[in-house]
Amino acid sequence: MKEAIDLCELVDRYGDDQKCRNYLEHIRWKGGVTCPKCNGKRVSSILKRDQYNCDNESCRYQFSVTAGTIFHDTHLPLTKWFLATFLICQSRKGMSANQLKRMLRINYRTAWYLCHRIRHAMAEAQPQDKLDGTVEVDETYVGGKKIGWGVYAGKKAKEVVVGIRQCGGDLRFFHAEDAKSGTLAKYIAENVSGDVDVLVTDEFAAYPWAMKKAGVSPEKHKTIEHKERVYVRGDIHTNTVESAFSLLKRGIMGTWHRISAKHLPAYLDEMTWRFNNRKNPYLFRDTMLKLIASNNLEYKELTKAA
Ligand SMILES: [Zn+2]
Repeated sequence: MKEAIDLCELVDRYGDDQKCRNYLEHIRWKGGVTCPKCNGKRVSSILKRDQYNCDNESCRYQFSVTAGTIFHDTHLPLTKWFLATFLICQSRKGMSANQLKRMLRINYRTAWYLCHRIRHAMAEAQPQDKLDGTVEVDETYVGGKKIGWGVYAGKKAKEVVVGIRQCGGDLRFFHAEDAKSGTLAKYIAENVSGDVDVLVTDEFAAYPWAMKKAGVSPEKHKTIEHKERVYVRGDIHTNTVESAFSLLKRGIMGTWHRISAKHLPAYLDEMTWRFNNRKNPYLFRDTMLKLIASNNLEYKELTKAA
């Protein structure tokens, strides 16, 4: 199987602005340089090497490969965008803006903005198809003042995260309003196929009701005890939503430190994108593809109070 690129290869391949531009041209315009305004294919290079001129008489637009993309309006060198994307792709628990700031020698605001833009691109890439086979559903609490494991005290101040994972398949995280049966039912109905073989949950009392509301027959619902899950090692349980939750919590504790409810969904999307692509050797390329196609996310929009 092909290996993902490492940091040395990254620096070697995309070590200067021109190399980055060439790569972006390659992934953006597979069928040749195309005018972003009129989609015309008749273009010529002009003056500066990184500029093009549309030869369409009625258009005449001058552009570069970053025109109309999120790479354009930040004054950050492309090499730093590439490094930031690579580092975030490679960090299993995520990377804080502070860490990125130190590693790339950029100011905090820029680092924070980069993190959010890359995360946003990852979020746009989430798959929509329904999960099948054996699916596990679990809920956990994050945020609040005391970030930690499921202690009942302080749960009210925390945010609910619902995790759904297909055995040997994809993981999904959702920032839920609460952990009531109606809410759980909604996520089950939206993400789990009607033909699912088994749905596994813990003994939390809301699940039987949630199954009923989601139209899952009771024979398909299997319950495991929490204490059993903690102590059983090396079987299927270790590779479940619970382990993904623990990665999420370590990410929140060790990397992000403080999390606001407003940005939680973006963090969750980043975690799932990385988790679901952990064996994808083209993760960097796929993330770059999403970035170049990503919607602009205004700084003021990001910093607006929730
Ligand atoms: Zn044009």
